[in-house]
Amino acid sequence: MSDVRRQSRSVQIGDAVIGGGAPISVQSMTNTDTRDVRATVAQIRRLKKAGCRMVRVAVPDESAAQAIYKIKRAAKIPVVADIHFDYRLALIALESGADKLRINPGNIGAAANVKKVARAAKERRVPIRIGANAGSIDRKIYGEPTAVSLAASAIDQAKMLEDIGFHDIVLSMKAFDVPMTIEAYRIAAEKTDYPLHLGVTETGLPWEGAIRSAVGIGALLAEGIGDTLRVSLTGDPVEEVRVGYEILAALDLYTPSLTLIACPTCGRCNIDISALATEVRRRVGKMKLPRPIKIAIMGCSVNGPGEAAMADVGIAGGKGFGLLFSHGKPLRKVDEAEIVNELVKEVERFESDTQSKN
Ligand code: SF4
Repeated sequence: MSDVRRQSRSVQIGDAVIGGGAPISVQSMTNTDTRDVRATVAQIRRLKKAGCRMVRVAVPDESAAQAIYKIKRAAKIPVVADIHFDYRLALIALESGADKLRINPGNIGAAANVKKVARAAKERRVPIRIGANAGSIDRKIYGEPTAVSLAASAIDQAKMLEDIGFHDIVLSMKAFDVPMTIEAYRIAAEKTDYPLHLGVTETGLPWEGAIRSAVGIGALLAEGIGDTLRVSLTGDPVEEVRVGYEILAALDLYTPSLTLIACPTCGRCNIDISALATEVRRRVGKMKLPRPIKIAIMGCSVNGPGEAAMADVGIAGGKGFGLLFSHGKPLRKVDEAEIVNELVKEVERFESDTQSKN
């Protein structure tokens, strides 16, 4: 893992910052009809609660572009307007208060139209993400999608904006193909200093999609590349945000309030780890934790005591009981039926001990 993050420009999106060393933000996209303001705002509120820092909405027509005005007022989160085919929708979205535009170089039309959009965005200090996508790359110019052509299409479009003095640019180069995606970002990271929005596209249902995204986005983040990310999953976008944070947490780029370490179980396992871990996550997840906590739930005495001792609070399973640990020290044996209650009590004690020490 690289200790050095790629240096990028900083771009302001509403009250959020992408690039320039800002924390890597997790974003998502609504899958409601943008014209249905009530449903869209309800979904955005759930996304916000899950930690989504900015949200993209599809703008398929004029009414959707106009709806951004009400959505922004109600949702109070930076809103990114996703525009395809018709540059005039970008102009309306800007008038409606969009905090950022996402346009696709493959389908937005003539250069003159792109420039019109950039001028209007510049007046309002609204950044533009150039989102190249393997599925819509202009094949007449770039041929078959490859890492090189994907990066080139995004960089060429950025140059077009630079020519008119527009530099508030974020780049993305997404493909379903993970190696192609990784390589395209590496090229753009080398050739530009624009902040990079990471993502692997059309990854599918949550299980497969989370894995494909974690591999692609995770590989780039481990190299120090990437300033913001969106995990694309089919289904509830709140899952995208959760997966995004898990990717960041796995690379120590984010510290969640609860880190749960649970052993995979094997033939030596003495207690029901899956049920215990699920219940502990549910109960501790509801608690207001003043500082992040690591909880280990381990099945036996092989790795259990070691892992449990390294966590803030932990349990190592025995036959019908668990050995409870806190602050790295064994405390006492508790009956299997009482493990969750005792663990939760220890979490409360750990948090109040830590608070009183600070
Ligand atoms: Fe198996 Fe024990 Fe390791 Fe869990 S901690 S996987 S039960 S050896």
